[in-house]
Amino acid sequence: MSAGPRRFTGDRLLVATHNPGKLAEFRALLEPRGIAVIGAAELALEAPAETGTTFLENARLKALAAARAVGIPALADDSGLECRGLDGAPGLATADWAGPERDFARAMRRVRAELVARFGSIERADRRAAFVAVLCLAWPDGWVECAEGRVEGEIVPEPRGSGGFGYDPLFVPQGESRTFGEMLASEKEALSHRAKAMAALLARCFPPAAAPPDRPGDPPRPAG
Ligand code: IMP
Repeated sequence: MSAGPRRFTGDRLLVATHNPGKLAEFRALLEPRGIAVIGAAELALEAPAETGTTFLENARLKALAAARAVGIPALADDSGLECRGLDGAPGLATADWAGPERDFARAMRRVRAELVARFGSIERADRRAAFVAVLCLAWPDGWVECAEGRVEGEIVPEPRGSGGFGYDPLFVPQGESRTFGEMLASEKEALSHRAKAMAALLARCFPPAAAPPDRPGDPPRPAG
């Protein structure tokens, strides 16, 4: 007999990331549901070595390490940028391309340089790309629920915008003309890989969001 998905029923969730950009996005996604987010840095939690060979393995090991260390459920993501013209690179090495000082201007220059090296010029390059995020929600007893989100798009010849974090200024999602770096946080949230993965996990493992209170002038809601 299958046990089915396990539900998160608490009101505080440990988010196992030291990345302030990711943490802000998780807060925006979870706090409207009445779930307070605690970041790994607040508890001085050490990040485990990301020894997995897939986003899923890394998200799983980060979530489990945090849940076991603190004794409460923990959420972790592993994410990255996959460029078609670079056979999926940087992929798992997305953070590493920014070097130990996490310099994303340098990481974005490397994407461009590798495309130019392979195709001769940025104009001729296959600039199709996707951001991928895998989220895992782990409990201290070892149970893990996971979900994946993906957004297809294109690398722009030069980074644009100062919003978001990481590679945001380099990526235009399909159907849009602005990069994630040129969008408001709420606009990125409507499209992003992380938000899509979170929506899938919320649907499976979290109680439904409370309905917003009636406003004066709203038609009466149907009963039931
Ligand atoms: P992780 O911490 O190993 O998951 O590293 C993921 C890397 O992908 C980070 O260095 C981020 O900069 C990059 N990344 C993941 N999601 C995003 C995003 O939404 N925007 C820009 N960069 C991202």
